[in-house]
Amino acid sequence: MIVRTVADLRALVAGWKADGATVGLVPTMGALHEGHLSLVDRARADCGRVIVSIFVNPKQFNNPEDLEKYPRDEARDVALLDGVDAVFLPTVEEMYPAGFASSLHVDRLGDRLEGTHRPGHFDGMATVVLKLFTMSQADVAFFGEKDWQQLQIVRRFVTDLNLPIRIEGCPTMREADGLAMSSRNRRLGTGARAEAVAMHEALQHAARAVRQGGEAATVLHNATQALRAAGFASVDYVELCDAETLEPVGTLSRPARLLAAASIDGVRLIDNIAV
Ligand code: AMP
Repeated sequence: MIVRTVADLRALVAGWKADGATVGLVPTMGALHEGHLSLVDRARADCGRVIVSIFVNPKQFNNPEDLEKYPRDEARDVALLDGVDAVFLPTVEEMYPAGFASSLHVDRLGDRLEGTHRPGHFDGMATVVLKLFTMSQADVAFFGEKDWQQLQIVRRFVTDLNLPIRIEGCPTMREADGLAMSSRNRRLGTGARAEAVAMHEALQHAARAVRQGGEAATVLHNATQALRAAGFASVDYVELCDAETLEPVGTLSRPARLLAAASIDGVRLIDNIAV
């Protein structure tokens, strides 16, 4: 069922809850791929009722050209979601009515990595995700580890704001060669698509080196060089961080994460792996 207004969504969910169903939410920006569908499968396995939201959120795009070029294909997405209980497709006006003036900022976690390179991105993301939680009244929400920093930020504000929702992180789905699936991949030309695999390879190589006792600064420098050599014209960061706080770490004592962001063929890609 397609739902476009908050009022309709609330009425639908109220009925489900009256029947005692557990409600799962999968927030997306559409242009769905196997990565999104793995979240949907997980939600359907865990919850009696599943809502998938599709909303290309203008507030989380720091770059107007990126927003304009973001792929949109509602008919195809809805067809792929055959079997979910509701596809929530709000308009921008429904999400942000005239006079909208609020924003959610998560200190520290939201200020690093992507936060540095995409000013305002996480405030826009957190604001819309919080709205989706309160609109849907979902019991559980599913997020991909592909966007590791986003997942940590959502966990943080759910704890901080005592939101009655459980957050489930789901593994990153990859193409056969290891490239993390992303809606942006379809903007890569053939040559760049082949070269883009260097991001996953550089992270894997770096993770091995760190595990073998390599000095973080050297390992991260080498990974950056490898990305440049493979054709990434600009490398925003390659960092080794505490997996939860995302503070930089030099030596491995707690679970850590390697995260990278770099652009190839005018397309900015991000990826991360556990160390
Ligand atoms: P997006 O539409 O890019 O905002 O992503 C919607 C959700 O799908 C987010 O929770 C993402 O982390 C997740 N996601 C995107 N790509 C992947 C992937 N390759 N594997 C798993 N989850 C993903």
